[in-house]
Amino acid sequence: MKMKKSLTLVMMLFAITTCYAQKKEYKPEDTEVWEPVPKAVTPAKTNDQAPVDAVVLFNGADMKEWIIPEGTFWDVKDGVVTVRASKEKLERPVTIESKKSFGDMQMHIEWRSPKKVEGDGQRRGNSGIFIQSKYELQIQDNYENATYVNGQAGSIYKQIPPLVNACKKPGEWQTYDVFYTAPKFDDIGLLLSPAYITVVHNGILVQNHAEIKGSIKFIGIPYYEPHGRLPLRLQDHGNPVSFRNIWVRDL
Ligand code: MG
Repeated sequence: MKMKKSLTLVMMLFAITTCYAQKKEYKPEDTEVWEPVPKAVTPAKTNDQAPVDAVVLFNGADMKEWIIPEGTFWDVKDGVVTVRASKEKLERPVTIESKKSFGDMQMHIEWRSPKKVEGDGQRRGNSGIFIQSKYELQIQDNYENATYVNGQAGSIYKQIPPLVNACKKPGEWQTYDVFYTAPKFDDIGLLLSPAYITVVHNGILVQNHAEIKGSIKFIGIPYYEPHGRLPLRLQDHGNPVSFRNIWVRDL
């Protein structure tokens, strides 16, 4: 009997305390967080420069941050690098590879489709950025140029069409700003979480935290192959596409 009374008392006290806690009046400072303090990063003075903590992959001077396979040529002139659409017999598409590897990242790249319009569909101004060497964000001249929609500019190739077509006219500079979360794998290579990508094309959202389904497959269904940090790749598809101002912030 005595035990039962004590238990009731404890329960009443608990109820009163809970009630008091719920009614606690908060002050503004109760919900302020002061630490850890985000690192200060100096923004670029103008939009054509990289932030100070970015890895600059092309600054207009040379291609020393890239491994370029024999027989392919990326010509640097006036601060711009252009794929040389050489007539030599070359098995294309072929890619160049950044010397540095990346995981989660923010990336900025500016590209330009050839002013002289040649070919149609996938043969017009085709290039691409292979994020972590495996997931292609398509670069293509899709200004009044139709193709399969999951293969047009702003698409994750053969997977996810862009939300809109934000292409400028051939010969005009265009921007991609990319926010990318790498896939995560466990110790035996099982997928823990897929890759996600957000892409802003010329200031317009074209991929909104889109889930990538696996490595790019030209033929067949994409699937994941476990990997860690990997280089970026840029595609030579035989079209003289130009680039400038390429930088990555490693997150
Ligand atoms: Mg491509």
